[in-house]
Amino acid sequence: MVRTVVVLGGGISGLAASYHLSRAPNPPKVVLVEGSKHLGGWIRSIRGPGGAIFELGPRGIRPAGALGARTLLLFFLFPRTCGEQVSELGLDSEVLPVRGDHPAAQNRFLYVGGALHALPSGIRGLLRPLPPFSKPLFWAGLKELTTSRGKDPDETVHSFAERRLGPEVASLAMDSLCRGVFAGNSRELSVRSCFPSLFQAEQTHRSILLGLLLGAAFSTAGRSSQPDSALLRQARAERWSQWSLRGGLEMLPQAINTDLTSRGVTVLRGQPVCGLSLQAEGYWKVSLGDSCLEADHVISALPASVLSKLLPAEAAPLARVLSTISAVSVAVVNLQYRGAHLPVQGFGHLVPSSEDPGVLGIVYDSVAFPEQDGSPPGLRVTVMLGGSWLQTLEAKGCVLSQELFQQQAQKAAATQLGLKEPPSHCLVHLHRNCIPQYTLGHWKKLESATHFLAAHRLPLTLAGASYQGVAVNDCIESGRQAAAQALGSEIDS
Ligand SMILES: Cc1cc2nc3c(=O)[nH]c(=O)nc-3n(C[C@H](O)[C@H](O)[C@H](O)COP(=O)(O)OP(=O)(O)OC[C@H]3O[C@@H](n4cnc5c(N)ncnc54)[C@H](O)[C@@H]3O)c2cc1C
Repeated sequence: MVRTVVVLGGGISGLAASYHLSRAPNPPKVVLVEGSKHLGGWIRSIRGPGGAIFELGPRGIRPAGALGARTLLLFFLFPRTCGEQVSELGLDSEVLPVRGDHPAAQNRFLYVGGALHALPSGIRGLLRPLPPFSKPLFWAGLKELTTSRGKDPDETVHSFAERRLGPEVASLAMDSLCRGVFAGNSRELSVRSCFPSLFQAEQTHRSILLGLLLGAAFSTAGRSSQPDSALLRQARAERWSQWSLRGGLEMLPQAINTDLTSRGVTVLRGQPVCGLSLQAEGYWKVSLGDSCLEADHVISALPASVLSKLLPAEAAPLARVLSTISAVSVAVVNLQYRGAHLPVQGFGHLVPSSEDPGVLGIVYDSVAFPEQDGSPPGLRVTVMLGGSWLQTLEAKGCVLSQELFQQQAQKAAATQLGLKEPPSHCLVHLHRNCIPQYTLGHWKKLESATHFLAAHRLPLTLAGASYQGVAVNDCIESGRQAAAQALGSEIDS
C-alpha cells in the first residue's frame, strides 16, 4: 500500500491529483510541493481598479464533452449516494456561464486582410462564400467527405488540414486555431496529439465530419448512464460554451487549496524541488534545498522539461525524452478602456500567422463576462502576443520590455478593433515557456516515457499540460488519472 505520495507542482494538475488522492477510501499521506508562493500555476486572476478582473492565464473553461462535464461534477455539485448533492468547494454561486444564445458563444472572428470576418455558423453560412474564404466552406466539407484515410502514424496539423479540407482552411482557420490554443505553428504541431478527436475520427470513420457527427450522436445516447448534477443539467440545457468564476478563475485553485488543507494534505509553497533520488529500498528522496521529503510514490505535475532536470542518473533515458517536450512563451496584455465600444460582439478574434506573426488574437473579455468589468464598468480585452515574432526576439536575446509588449498590444487593439484612445488600465506579463508544444511525433515520446516507467517499475507518475492536453479540463483529468495510478485503483468522478 502507498503510504506517502508527494505531488510536485501546485498548478491545476497537481492540485487535481492531490484532490483525488485526499478523497481515496484510505487516503495516503499527501504532500503537495509548489516552487513559487502562488498556487494554480498559470491560472492567475488580478483585481484591478473598481474591482475589474484581469485573467493572466486561462479565462474560461469549456463544459462540453466528457472532461468538461467531469470538471463541473468534480468541483461543484459533488454527487453523494441517495441522490443528495453537496457543494464541496462552495463555489457554485460564483459560476459565470456563457449560455449558448450569447454572442460570446455564437460569434468568433478571424482578422484577415485588415478586416474582421465572422466565422460561419449554421448550414446557411456554409453554403455562401464568406470572406476570408474564397469559396463556400461547403466545398471544403465535400472534399473532406471524399478524401481517403491518411496512412502516416502522425501528421502536422497543417498537412492534415490541407489534405482533408484544402489549403485555405489549413492556412487561415487551422493556422489560427493552433495559434489560439497552443500559441504554436500548425506546420510543426502534431494533429494526433493536438487534436486527437480529429485524428481518431479519420482513423475510425475515414472522415472527420462523419466521425464527429457519429461521436456526438453516441455521446448523447450514452449520457443517461453518466453521473449527473443540477449544474451539469443546467449547463446542457442552456448549451454553455464556457464558464468562469465571479472573482476570476483563480478562485478554483484557492478553493481546492482550502479543501486540501482541511483534509490533512500538507501544502508547501515557495519550496522548489531541486532533485529526486531513488533509494535502494525503493522510495524517493525529494530534495527541497535545505530539507528533503521521503515518498513511496511521486506524481510529477511539473513541466516535462523541468522534471527532466530533476531526475536521477538511473532515469537518464526518461530525462532525455522529457527534455525534448518544449514549450513556447506568450505575452499577455490586459487592457481596459473607459467609454469605448467594440465594433463586433463575440468571444474574440484570432489572427493567422500570414496576417501578423506576433499577434495571436484578442479576447473580448467584457463580452463573455461583463460581470467582471468592475464599477464603473470599463471595456476589457486581452491581447495575446507570441508566435514566430516572439520566438525570434527570444532567440536573438533582445530586451523584452513591458513597453514593447504594451506598444504592440495597443497597436493591435487600435488597428484591429478601432480602440484608438489610450487604455485606462494595462497589465503586461511575459509568460516564459507557458504552453507545451506537441510537435510531430509527440505520441512516440509519450510511449517511450510510459515504457521506461513501466519497465523500471519507477514509482513515478506524470501529469500536467506537457503530455495529453493543455486545456484546464485536460490537466484536471491528468491529475485524476495520476492519482488513480499512484493508488493502483480506479477513482470515480
Ligand atoms: C496565457 C494562457 C491562456 C490560457 N487560456 C486557457 C483557457 O482559456 N482555457 C483553458 O482551458 N486553458 C487555457 N490555458 C492552458 C492552461 O491554463 C494550462 O495548460 C494549465 O493551467 C497548466 O496547468 P499545469 O498544472 O499542468 O501546469 P502549470 O500551471 O505550469 O503548473 C506547474 C507548477 O509547477 C511549479 N513548479 C515549476 N518548477 C517547480 C519546481 N522545481 N518545484 C516545485 N514546483 C515547481 C510551477 O510554479 C507551477 O505552479 C492557457 C494557458 C496560458 C499560459
